[in-house]
Amino acid sequence: MYKFLTAFMCRALSCILIKSISKINLTVIIWMVALIQVSASGRAQSVNINAKNSRIEKILDELGKQSGYHFLYNVQIISKASLVTIKATNSSLEQVLVQCFANQPFTYVIAGKNVIIRSKTIDSRSVERTSKPQDKAIQSIKINDTTARRTGSLMVGKMSDSPTSTDLVQSSTAPKINGRGKTVILTFDDAPESQFRTVAPLLHQYGFGATFYVCEFPPNYSDSTLYMNWRQIKILSQMGFEIGNHTWHHQSVASLTTDADREREICYVEQQCQRLGIPQPTSFCYPNYVTDTLFIATLRRHNYLTAKGGEDRPWYPKTDQPYFLPSFTLSGNQPNHFYHALEQARTDNVIVFCLHGVPDIDHPWVSTPPELLAYYLKYLHDHHFRVLSMQAYLKKIR
Ligand SMILES: [Zn+2]
Repeated sequence: MYKFLTAFMCRALSCILIKSISKINLTVIIWMVALIQVSASGRAQSVNINAKNSRIEKILDELGKQSGYHFLYNVQIISKASLVTIKATNSSLEQVLVQCFANQPFTYVIAGKNVIIRSKTIDSRSVERTSKPQDKAIQSIKINDTTARRTGSLMVGKMSDSPTSTDLVQSSTAPKINGRGKTVILTFDDAPESQFRTVAPLLHQYGFGATFYVCEFPPNYSDSTLYMNWRQIKILSQMGFEIGNHTWHHQSVASLTTDADREREICYVEQQCQRLGIPQPTSFCYPNYVTDTLFIATLRRHNYLTAKGGEDRPWYPKTDQPYFLPSFTLSGNQPNHFYHALEQARTDNVIVFCLHGVPDIDHPWVSTPPELLAYYLKYLHDHHFRVLSMQAYLKKIR
């Protein structure tokens, strides 16, 4: 039996709380005088809106209520928006959006009943060279509830109070690593809610693929402010991201001593996927990085192609055992660990990064600050790494 247990430094994130509301200058509030009229009925895509110097989030929220469309956005991007003045009666949603976005530093695409807001600054050629989750059905989120206050708003939150990416990373000291021809696989474990609210929009901006290894993490899984529910996991799948199996209860596989135990833990996630129309997982991730040769038979029986552990070393697909697949864990503020991993990238290996919540409220010792993930993704993009999910990579090499 091979065991690998990574010890994490417990790095308490600087407390990123929502203080912005109290910081909004009262005169600005008076000045903004936003008046938004809500149409109580009418055709789903016909909207009425009358707003003066209003924040665009507020307008999108109202448009969502009227049209039934969902808006997916990274609050960091949208925080750069100009105030919007608009008057529209019985207009199509698209007409209203064109006006709202006319002078904004971001644009949008409509996919099904969803509107994805994205930065104008991403180089579209680079986006095209990676997998394209944005081409598939995309659902989204509205940032107007308690959950947002606890997690999503962290992005905006409070950039003034939290360390900025330049505080976290001295980009002038970042090594210049040429990523051409080299592959990075991004993986996110444990299904914290911030993966839905913060990670997916950030990945989407760059057209990056990723694998989300999901479980129902005890004891707090039912707290929707901490963990994704299955509806959100389904949306990640519809966005084109891969859903992997991280067992039902995040139980170390070495502690599963009978076949019945092993079956129960691996089948639950598969059954949820089947029930919701999510493709059957083919990628597995060992909880707590604890691997166990006894579990291999279960993985084979269920047709898993890979099983991810830790080890902090590159993966050599041609020679490494696929059920002991190594990864580099990123947490806290450790850009040097990120660079160190990328410096080992070759054309014949793969750098698999393992992250958790961004942030991870329930497990702060594995948390990654949102600003740092944004920096990592930009770095990968700017240095021409190919960024894929586990599944997309395997398809490519077959
Ligand atoms: Zn885990």
